[in-house]
Amino acid sequence: SVRVRFAPSPTGMFHVGGARSALFNWAVAKQSDGGVFVLRIEDTDASRNQPEWVDGILSAMESLGITASDPAFEGPYYQSENAGLQKEAAAKLYAEGRAYYCDCTRDDVAARTGNAQTGYDGHCRDRGLEQAEGRALRFRTPDDGETQVIDLIRGNPSFPNATLEDFVIARGNGSPVFLLANVVDDVDEKITHVIRGEEHLPNTPKQQLLWEALGATPPTWAHLPVIVNEKRQKLSKRRDKVALEDYLADGVLPAAMVNYLMLLGWAPGNDEEILPFDELVRRFRIEDVNSSSAFFDLKKLTAFNGEYIRALPLDEFKTACAPYLTAPHAPWTPEQFDAAAFDAVAELAQTRVALLGEITGNVDFLFLDEPVFDQDSWDKAMKGDAAALLADMRAALADATWEAEPLKELVTAVGEKHGLKLGKAQAPVRVAVTGRRIGLPLFESLEVLGRERTLARVDAAIV
Ligand code: GLU
Repeated sequence: SVRVRFAPSPTGMFHVGGARSALFNWAVAKQSDGGVFVLRIEDTDASRNQPEWVDGILSAMESLGITASDPAFEGPYYQSENAGLQKEAAAKLYAEGRAYYCDCTRDDVAARTGNAQTGYDGHCRDRGLEQAEGRALRFRTPDDGETQVIDLIRGNPSFPNATLEDFVIARGNGSPVFLLANVVDDVDEKITHVIRGEEHLPNTPKQQLLWEALGATPPTWAHLPVIVNEKRQKLSKRRDKVALEDYLADGVLPAAMVNYLMLLGWAPGNDEEILPFDELVRRFRIEDVNSSSAFFDLKKLTAFNGEYIRALPLDEFKTACAPYLTAPHAPWTPEQFDAAAFDAVAELAQTRVALLGEITGNVDFLFLDEPVFDQDSWDKAMKGDAAALLADMRAALADATWEAEPLKELVTAVGEKHGLKLGKAQAPVRVAVTGRRIGLPLFESLEVLGRERTLARVDAAIV
């Protein structure tokens, strides 16, 4: 049966591209009878690995719903724990004449070939060097013929062997390099399908040769399209927001993120996009993944998330908001927070926020002593005869029936006296009371805020 793996290196924050790879592998494992998803932490590069990045990988898996308790899940394995087997494989390739020791430095090779970019020239191929400290072990690639790989996305690309240099499989200190360690682990874990990012495609013919040389049947490959930003540049951590954790911290719901990531390079068909994960898995076909780059569209992700937020039962929405209603997200103190006031506006807020993090700015006027004024909103709303308008509003509000509907009628009537439609008439009131031009529906907000505080804020805006 199908055995796939996700093999991240713990060298930084968990990348959305990694999340997409993990999910596609997970989908393939889940949709096949007895399918297995192996999680393997590729922690061999000790200088770049940090234990906290490993924790980040494990918690990212949980957020994506790739849970260790699922029968399809196996691992995590750690590449470093397989070092013995990797060294044995290197020794076997040497013993069988498939690999040889080499003492050339980079400069030696460049001096001979006249070009630092060219691959290795095979200088040590037939020198018969023995193993010794400082000598790298190189794999002897075939001189002619082609290496064809079966790639479910890319139509079985073929690589002329003459273009494949004799590449290093173990360093001068004997430690196996990525190309070898990755294959040895895959063979050991009986991986049938290697589904990974397109950036690894140049490694694939070399790795397939290693599979063959180790006497194993090479896997089926699938190289996922690169993910790009709105400028069609490859998503990079220097330029773009790439950490899964950052999106979750902004208040993207894990389910929305998973749904969105599944569409990076694949579509479920019927013009449907928002679907439960089980349904996505049912429809997913790795063969249908596109080979051209996938656009990471933040607007679309946010819109998706808005739909997921609106679909939550109200109680779940309120629970999901909780982190954004306390420090460090929220600028108010626990004493200022009023749970009843939040409950009163939660349903309205649910229809308006696209990221959970937006809840803070939508309800802050209920808890802070003074609104947080947005300068631009203030300038626009308070120009012209806004002060006169507010004075009339104030007088009318002083003995209004304090419920949304009568408040709306009242503001409408005062606006008409000033020749203003409701939208224009309510703007100064809204800014005086909430600090911003956009937000929750005004009259419900006033009802919850109460007469006393509303009047005080209108007064403060008039002077
Ligand atoms: N550790 C490699 C990476 O994170 C794994 C590549 C692979 O999936 O084979 O890029």
